[in-house]
Amino acid sequence: MTVGIIGGGASGMAAALAAAENPDVQVLLFERQARVGRKLQATGNGRCNLTNLHASRQGYHGSEAAFAQTALSAFGPEKTLEWFRGLGLLTVAEPSGRVYPYSDQANSVVDILRFALEKPNIRVLAGVEVAKVRHVGAGFSVDSGQEAFACDRVIIACGGLAGTKLGGSMSGYKLLGKLGHHSTRLRPALVQIKSNWGGVAGLKGVRANCHARILCDGELHAQSTGELQFTEYGLSGPVIFEVSRDACQGHGDWICRLDFLPDLSEEELLEELKRRTATTLPVEELLTGILHNRLGRVLTKAAGIRGGRQIRELTNGELTAVSQAVKAFDIPLTEPMGMDSAQVTAGGILTDEFDPATMESRMVPGLYACGEVLDIDGDCGGYNLQWAWSSGRMAGLHAGKEAK
Ligand SMILES: Cc1cc2nc3c(=O)[nH]c(=O)nc-3n(C[C@H](O)[C@H](O)[C@H](O)COP(=O)(O)OP(=O)(O)OC[C@H]3O[C@@H](n4cnc5c(N)ncnc54)[C@H](O)[C@@H]3O)c2cc1C
Repeated sequence: MTVGIIGGGASGMAAALAAAENPDVQVLLFERQARVGRKLQATGNGRCNLTNLHASRQGYHGSEAAFAQTALSAFGPEKTLEWFRGLGLLTVAEPSGRVYPYSDQANSVVDILRFALEKPNIRVLAGVEVAKVRHVGAGFSVDSGQEAFACDRVIIACGGLAGTKLGGSMSGYKLLGKLGHHSTRLRPALVQIKSNWGGVAGLKGVRANCHARILCDGELHAQSTGELQFTEYGLSGPVIFEVSRDACQGHGDWICRLDFLPDLSEEELLEELKRRTATTLPVEELLTGILHNRLGRVLTKAAGIRGGRQIRELTNGELTAVSQAVKAFDIPLTEPMGMDSAQVTAGGILTDEFDPATMESRMVPGLYACGEVLDIDGDCGGYNLQWAWSSGRMAGLHAGKEAK
């Protein structure tokens, strides 16, 4: 039996290795780029955050996010790490639950998978882009334009549109669309958000631990706590990635309300500021020792405190204005950055058209899909690769089973 897998990324490689566990199966793994795992190599800033020990259904999104439950239960973080250990990869977990290769190099993950693919019943066809998949009789014809390959079963593992420079494309959606499947609207997630606030560029490079709330016309849409990073165009960092899925989706005034001291109440901060009024230091130093110096100055100024004065001259009303600015600072948002900057695609092929226990299409027998092409996306911190391993393995195991 021949199983054709379209896409040699994380989910496609997991699927290939699972399908090839059946020695009677011949796997054809099609990858349009010159090498498998191109995107994987760039993940986690080159370190590859390959899973998260806390990954569970709650960390996933989509129009029917419960779809992810079965695959995650069958092959969750623990089993994934055992599997990688069996392939020869040593890993290390951070206190946050994020897991990285012990070498701290994404290349190690790609290499281990590449070596594992060197099996007699797996043929990797790198540099081959599949242009068409047709359902022919009880099987499929997988066509690259130059050559057509007969396959008994096909797994679409083409990934999503995010990270276009690393291979993200519409290909999987199109192939599945031609076979009768439907997609939701696609949008970038785990992405930076642009702002037209004049102070952004001046804070470029500043990092801060904060609680971020996304509001539209005063209504709360998302919130998270973690590290924020200011960029030339707006806001970035894990906390922003986390809330980016829900930002600027529709008309209205979108803002990001930042609490730069989530562990301290406004009253506690005010007390601390009052303690500082004994000093003759200039007002620009009011938040020194509390926040990043540049951020402290911007917030003091934004609270209406003009320079050229000493901290001891500040009134209680002015100190209150500063503590309010620190605890609830509003930054207007314009739009998320595009798919090329996004780490994952929110939306995708409708999951109710697939069986969550096998990843097989409910419309086309013998057709499977896994990974980011489906309408499932995960939180920041290893959740998306975990989905790729879980869904890829499930698709591969079932596609590789002999028909009864
Ligand atoms: C910069 C960046 C950093 C990230 N960091 C992390 C991280 O640290 N942790 C985490 O959990 N997630 C991370 N992600 C997300 C994660 O990489 C993806 O969710 C995951 O790779 C999806 O796996 P996939 O197999 O579905 O798709 P991909 O890994 O994208 O693989 C799809 C493959 O299919 C190939 N392909 C597409 N169409 C065809 C075709 N027609 N014919 C042949 N081949 C085709 C593509 O070239 C590609 O290699 C990151 C993403 C980006 C962009």
